[in-house]
Amino acid sequence: MTARPRILLTRRWPEAVERRAGARFEVTLNPDDRPLSEAELATAMRTHDALCPTITDRVTAAVLGVSDRRADIVASYGVGYEHIDLAAARAAGIRVTNTPGVLTDATADLALTLILMTARRSGEGERELRAGAWTGWRPTHLLGQSLKGKRLGLVGFGRIAQATAERARFGFGMEIAYYARRPAPADIADRLGARFVPDLGDLLADADFVSLHVPGGTETRHMIDGAALARMRPDAILINTARGDVVNEAALIAALQERRIAGAGLDVFAGEPNVSPALRVLDNAVLLPHLGSATRETREAMGLRVLANLEAWFDGKPTPDTVA
Ligand code: NAP
Repeated sequence: MTARPRILLTRRWPEAVERRAGARFEVTLNPDDRPLSEAELATAMRTHDALCPTITDRVTAAVLGVSDRRADIVASYGVGYEHIDLAAARAAGIRVTNTPGVLTDATADLALTLILMTARRSGEGERELRAGAWTGWRPTHLLGQSLKGKRLGLVGFGRIAQATAERARFGFGMEIAYYARRPAPADIADRLGARFVPDLGDLLADADFVSLHVPGGTETRHMIDGAALARMRPDAILINTARGDVVNEAALIAALQERRIAGAGLDVFAGEPNVSPALRVLDNAVLLPHLGSATRETREAMGLRVLANLEAWFDGKPTPDTVA
């Protein structure tokens, strides 16, 4: 019998998928589920045939460029890949894969969760009740806003943005506009009633809710900066389920403090897992700990997708989700 490929999962995966991985591969688990250091990741590239990282791992040029490297594939658990130095991977001839599609619905559900929580001031209400400060029903208590007829401006119009548009339009009667580098195919835009806005500032100025869906990385870093926030209306709300770095967090905090925008619903942060104390005390911000894809079904599907890429690779077939 030929030796089974050795793979390293940098974090704990749902048990069913870890078991499934063990049926085909010799699997190294991370029993403590703590983020691995750069040195540990580099060692893994020397001692394993595949590295399976997540967003909490920094797969740098130093990790990918180790001498005596054994691993030729980095199969990442997640759709975003800005934590992997793709140029270094290409230079070293290392295959990189991700897990697109299987987390689209869960993440769009979470974007709607944040839209609803900010619109209906759910976080404020829950905090008030838990603090024992609720004095009972009254006509003017914690008034939020309705979604029907409100304009949702999507920044980026890929899988998750479109799934968010679908929920917002057909579930809640919102109007959809999007900013992207190019218009979407007519059949997709027509079905969602989505209007293309070629200028980001115009989209921001027009929207009741702005929801971010571009990938992270140098190209989109601080795409929403102080100037962009200044284009938003004082009654508008910013939703971010994309990546923390897409927003200049200091500028956002200032805009929220000074009520230059009405609120923000955030699932991602610049320095995760550290969240600015200034942000944590703001009543007009809803803050979630990066829960976008966090359903049992989705996290299992993500693991299976990593395994599908590894199986294809070790069977000498094309990997289904090739990033580099
Ligand atoms: P996707 O289908 O690739 O969509 C990304 C979209 O962004 C594409 O339509 C792309 O358009 C557009 N885009 C890229 N760079 C842009 C730029 N500079 N300006 C304008 N548009 C730009 O990806 P997805 O599956 O929807 O995922 C989107 C992101 O969500 C991921 O990259 C990840 O960071 C984040 N995410 C977060 C969570 C969470 O837990 N919160 C979960 C899943 C994903 P082009 O066609 O022009 O490239």
